[in-house]
Amino acid sequence: MNFRDTLKIEGNDLVIGGLTASELRERFGTPLYVMDESYIREVSRSFQKTIEAFYGEGAVAFASKAFSAVAMYKIINSEGLSIDVVSGGELFAALRAGFPPERIYFHGNNKLFNEIEFAVLSGVGNIVIDHPDEIEMISAAAKRLGEVQSVMLRINPGIEAHTYAAVQTATPDSKFGWAIEDKNTVELIKRAAAAENLVFSGLHAHIGSQIFEISGYEMLIDKMTSFIVKLNGLGIDVKILNLGGGFGITYTEEDPEFSGDQYAWYVKTIAMFLSKAVVEKKIKRPFLVIEPGRSIVGEAGVTLYTVGAVKTIPDIRKYIAIDGGMFDNPRYALYGSKYSAIVANKAALPASETVTICGKCCESGDIIAKDIKLAPAKRGDIIAVFATGAYNYTMAMNYNMNPIPPVVLVQDGKADYIVKPQTYEDLIRNNCLPDWLK
Ligand SMILES: *Cc1c(COP(=O)(O)O)cnc(C)c1O
Repeated sequence: MNFRDTLKIEGNDLVIGGLTASELRERFGTPLYVMDESYIREVSRSFQKTIEAFYGEGAVAFASKAFSAVAMYKIINSEGLSIDVVSGGELFAALRAGFPPERIYFHGNNKLFNEIEFAVLSGVGNIVIDHPDEIEMISAAAKRLGEVQSVMLRINPGIEAHTYAAVQTATPDSKFGWAIEDKNTVELIKRAAAAENLVFSGLHAHIGSQIFEISGYEMLIDKMTSFIVKLNGLGIDVKILNLGGGFGITYTEEDPEFSGDQYAWYVKTIAMFLSKAVVEKKIKRPFLVIEPGRSIVGEAGVTLYTVGAVKTIPDIRKYIAIDGGMFDNPRYALYGSKYSAIVANKAALPASETVTICGKCCESGDIIAKDIKLAPAKRGDIIAVFATGAYNYTMAMNYNMNPIPPVVLVQDGKADYIVKPQTYEDLIRNNCLPDWLK
């Protein structure tokens, strides 16, 4: 785990944003998602500054599916970043936070017509076309609403980034984007550029997630800039080049030890590589957009749990059951993701046991961390799981009618909810009875 000023061990306590895990549990209970505001702001700033310093005109668009909540859109907006949204719901939350629509990119491999209308009506800066049908859908919506909509095309560059299969998005077999080699791709762009009430503004590609190798981005930049050369030759201008996100973060000691400012290394390399390609291939310098999600919020998050049942199966395994589980973090169940954890109220003790942290759901795959090293934990202890800020809260669910835990934002010793706890009443709020059951 990457410790820092706002995430450190003092004596026996884990301290996050100036508060001990015990204080946080006392005030807010467990399970509890804790988000460190300073960290989010620090990474946002360093990404933005790096683009300006090493490329020039460009933007960091926070991939908000990593953590979408009104407060997060407010923080990201106050740092001057852009965002991407992938559904009407994310767009709704962003607008509710007062996020300027012109700094929003709207993605999705199967945008619904009502989502397209909502995006056009809201004045979203760019809709990223993912399927040819969307050209006519967006054009029709823009015409009907009397708007001119800027659109981009999502390209599948056919690059295999070295990461988990489930989070790869640009292999030749992908539901996302239009293959760069497809001979119709140029025709598609021409069609979009010529469509009524549409303006074609550029290209987008996203090669995957939790990537540590820069070579994937270098290949991507090479392919995309060559494609721009081809389009320029046909009289098509590419004003925006969005290269997606996917920068890997530190979950366990198996991952490279990066954090905070160091993540800007990817941004720097991408910026420099694109700068070079633009000069070499003599194309007009496009506005560069990167779309990191995980690397902005992932390590900002820590989930706190209370230990319940501890069960040792001799010669097999020791299970530490916590009061959360796959309903607040389904990532192990989904793709075997690994996490590191500590006993937060015994933080000074050595991690002397190998244990499996499991949840309370009726599902054997309900595991948070398998075979990890931990200090001896007893009922009532606090477990802190690190790097849970991305794709945990946004993937949470109510399986077994477990309430989704609240999210607390910490900053300089202050802490308050950004997502309130769900009550049992909330769980059945939309339940209803047809006449014949009343
Ligand atoms: C998920 C996603 C991202 C962000 O990926 P991270 O791994 O969280 O950085 C960026 N762009 C698109 C289109 C995405 O779907």
